[in-house]
Parts: sequence; C-alpha cells; structure tokens
Amino acid sequence: MGGKSLKIAVPIEWPAKLRENDRTASLRFAMPKRAKEKPSEKRRRLFKLYSANAAIFAPEYSQYCPCPICLSGFGERAIEADTLLMDIAHVFPKSCGGNGGPKVLTCKQCNSRIGREYDSEFAYDSKLVAALDGSGNGCVATRIRLPGGTSIGTEFRKQNGGFRFDLIPKQTNPVERDRLIKSLRETGDLSFTMDLRTPDPKRYPVSLLHSAYLAMYRYFGFEYLVTGNSEWIRDILVREDAPDDVPFFTLDVPKGCISVARNDLLYTPFLATSESGLHALAVAFPAANKEMETRIVLLPGFGKEAMHDYEKLRMGWENSQQRIGAIFEFHPLEPRLVDPKCQWFGNNLWRRLVAQSREPSSKARGIRMEPSA
Ligand SMILES: [Zn+2]
Repeated sequence: MGGKSLKIAVPIEWPAKLRENDRTASLRFAMPKRAKEKPSEKRRRLFKLYSANAAIFAPEYSQYCPCPICLSGFGERAIEADTLLMDIAHVFPKSCGGNGGPKVLTCKQCNSRIGREYDSEFAYDSKLVAALDGSGNGCVATRIRLPGGTSIGTEFRKQNGGFRFDLIPKQTNPVERDRLIKSLRETGDLSFTMDLRTPDPKRYPVSLLHSAYLAMYRYFGFEYLVTGNSEWIRDILVREDAPDDVPFFTLDVPKGCISVARNDLLYTPFLATSESGLHALAVAFPAANKEMETRIVLLPGFGKEAMHDYEKLRMGWENSQQRIGAIFEFHPLEPRLVDPKCQWFGNNLWRRLVAQSREPSSKARGIRMEPSA
C-alpha cells in the first residue's frame, strides 16, 4: 500500500427526516502520487492501460480501447492530436465545482453528447445553488422585467445579505438601460419580475450518475462494466433523451465532519455497508451547497446479491416514512486498476470485503487492505 494513510470521521447526513440516525464511520485509504504528464502522454498511457484491461475480458480488444459508455472500440490512432476520436474526460464536470477530478478516456461523441445534454444542466444547477446561497463566485444569468415592458439582461448572486444584479450589456438594449437608470435616479425605487429557469430534474442527475460511473470505471476497469451491475447505467447514458427515472441515490455529508482535506476524499470509490449488512459502492464528489462538505453517490456493487442490496437501500432511502436503520461503514478499496495478469481482481476484492464487513463492526472499521493473492 503506497502513499499515506488517512483516517476520517464521517457522520452521514441523511435526508432531514432521518437525521436522528447520524452516526460516525471511519475511512482510511492511500493517495497515489504521480508526476505531471503532457496530455498526449496521458492519452497514450490511459489507452495502453485500458486496452490491456479490456483484453482480459475480450482478447480481441488487445489493439483497441473501448469507450466505457458506448463500448465502441478505437485503435491507437484515435488518440492522436489530429483525430482525437478518443480524448481525456474528467470524471466530474469541471463546470460543477472542484478541479474535474481524475481523468479517463472516452470517445468524443459520448463526451460531447453527455456534456451538452446533461453536464450543462448539472452545471446550471450548481451555479444556481451557488448564486442563491452566495458561495464561491457562482452567479446566474437572468432577465428582469420592469413595469412598462422594459427588459434587462443581468447576472445575479447573493451578496451582503441581499442580491446583487449586474447588467449584461450584450443582452440589454441601451435605450432600455438608460430608461432604467433614469427611473432609478428619479424614484430611487425599483420593482421588477425575474425569469428564473429551474434545472431540469431529469437531466442533472444523469450527469452525476455519469461521474460516479466513470469513477468506478477508472478504478475497476472493464470488470465493472462486465460484472459490476452497470448495464442499466450505460443504457441511461447512451439514450438520446433523458430517462423519466434515474434510479440511484446520494448522501450529503455536512461541513466540519471530515478531519482531512476534502480533496483527499473525493473521486475514489469505497465500500459502504449498512447496519443491516447491505452493501453498496460509494464515491464522494464536491458538495451540492456550502453547508455540505461532500456529496456521496451510491451505486450497486458486483454480483446479483449486490443489486438486491442496492434496491433495498434505495427503497429505504426513497421512502422517507420508513427509517433506514443503517450506518455506512466506509471500507477503503485499493486504488488500482485490474492488473492485466490478474483476472477478476475487483470481483474477488468485493467478495473479500463483503466477507470482512460481516465481522463485528469494531473490527471492520478502519480495515487495512492487503494486496490480493
Ligand atoms: Zn462512446
């Protein structure tokens, strides 16, 4: 186990009605270190890594790297600067806070479509939340309408206990702008209505699901695609239109509950085990708002049983009348992709973790992973 070990105490933020169930879990994991690479070197390294990984499951892929979303195979030519049919994709949209997290390779078509259809909506949601609670430099463009039909393009954000509106010159007729200034000088008073679009509730969760999926792919490689209960995610991600239901769930961890830098926690999958012995894979992302430290996305793990576990957890979470009766213990997973010589690594690791987590919880906490045989 390289890098340094961390111990983190994480009381979990349940949906408000379930708050009485707050408990503490601990987490320890290693942080790998790597020298800075040029984009072309990074593409080549990722291509070789994932192509070798894919060949474990489908030997015909030894010269190709599949896109983890649409599963189209690409030759090495696809990562050259003049074609870039496959390019580096951030696990988390940069426009939604954070640094975008680690990178993987996806095909350009999938990356552009998901960026356009879903990430843009997630970014809007994040910006709107930031503008409304005055965090970061979040602001949102909107039109304000004054009595008499004047309409002005503005950007607004919360500031000093009120809201600040900045005029957007390109979206404002100068005549109307002058009329507004004149009216303000004369009356010192202004009443207006504001158009504010609400984020599409069908679209922005898909972006978060996409991020969690890429985090799992980065970590487990194609084993997650082949045996990891992930087909339903790809079905959603390759659709042309947003689905009616995106069946996954998230937990928000409040500020001040994590004893290490938040950035050390983000983007690395870990195993979550409920009090009642149900398991799920989990990954932390930047928080939804400034009261929160991080947002944890839960996804099903490997095998049939994991899917049943996940469904039970999700139903409990969705039905807020019913107490979940669960604490999540966070077990670190080794940050490594499947070694080309080591088949079914992730699946074995999963089984081993499941077996270990059934021991009394005092032993299971802060568990230290040994390399798989
Ligand atoms: Zn693709």
